[in-house]
Amino acid sequence: MNNVMRAEAVVDLGALQQNLRSLRARVGSAEVMSVVKADAYGHGALPVARAALAAGTRWLGVAKPEEALALRAGGIAPEQARILCWLWTPAAPWAECVAADVDITVSGVWALGRVAEAVRAAGRPARVQLKADTGLGRNGAQPHDWPELVSAARRLEREGLIRVTGLWSHFACADEPGHPSIQAQLDAFHEALRVAEAAGVQPEVRHMANSPATLTLPEAHFDLVRAGIAQYGLSPSPELGTPADFGLRPVMTLQAPVASVKTVPAGHGVSYGHTYVTPGRTTLALVPLGYADGIPRHASSTGPVLLGGKWRTIAGRVAMDQFVLDLGGDAAEVGEAAILFGPGDQGEPTAEDWARACGTISYEIVTRIGGRVPRRYV
Ligand code: PLP
Repeated sequence: MNNVMRAEAVVDLGALQQNLRSLRARVGSAEVMSVVKADAYGHGALPVARAALAAGTRWLGVAKPEEALALRAGGIAPEQARILCWLWTPAAPWAECVAADVDITVSGVWALGRVAEAVRAAGRPARVQLKADTGLGRNGAQPHDWPELVSAARRLEREGLIRVTGLWSHFACADEPGHPSIQAQLDAFHEALRVAEAAGVQPEVRHMANSPATLTLPEAHFDLVRAGIAQYGLSPSPELGTPADFGLRPVMTLQAPVASVKTVPAGHGVSYGHTYVTPGRTTLALVPLGYADGIPRHASSTGPVLLGGKWRTIAGRVAMDQFVLDLGGDAAEVGEAAILFGPGDQGEPTAEDWARACGTISYEIVTRIGGRVPRRYV
């Protein structure tokens, strides 16, 4: 019998490194950025970043400046890795980012002003990457604002305050092959590059691809691809293919020991609201993971779990710290492993199965696994 001692997320760093190697083989001369925002999609930012660097990655990507600073504070030195951050608010720690050699994404002229102030405070020039909104409608300069942003950046570059290290954009629908916005965004990005380069910008890197574009759109690879979900061994969307179709292996396994086993009569309500009532005399197993650990409450009566060689469905509501499985006529023992998701090769569900059961995407399933669940790195 497969026993475990505690609820835990097992993170297979060897699989992560192999996934990065598969991605690198796919993108030719382009580099692969390891996207480690949101605690590396729940896998643990520092261990993942270290493993990615050991596998030859040179770029790390995060959303928030604080995430970039946490990587530097955790010992990821500027000589080891460039770190790009792309989402910030007015009170962000700019001077610290400049001092820590973080590449800062800028989408507007007003933001350049903030960076210039930070440069004066830090006493050294900043690395800036300019972001174009080619159609996603989030951050990034609109085409009509782009020339002004570029010339403001060139001015600061000539004054020695910044160096424009990158030009980039982000897709809206790269996971829907053939979507008309894909070509429109590529065309808009080429135009943004033309305008910037005509103004004298000489970026180290031009980049646009997230995982789906990395996997399916070679014309979007440019100098660097930003890989998030694919390095964690998950497919960006079931319609594109399975992880195995792309040579990827899921990195995270979520499992917990059965915490109690008992027999109840027919007609016994299970968990809050009694949304599940036992159809006959049966065995109930309690699993010590709940929505405080990141198990979606939407998994109530739908989430699949491997226990005793069979898939079970969560009986009734997921509570804050626990949920219940109805084993029917089967037995179970305290300590026996209940596997929620993993690579699938022990017959367990995958994060994609969980996404389907909860009406979401696998990104959300792994990312929401919370800090209360210990990670074990293998
Ligand atoms: N680039 C940016 C700007 C992102 O926000 C993200 C994640 O959402 C990524 C790259 C990575 O996306 P994916 O996980 O699909 O590779």
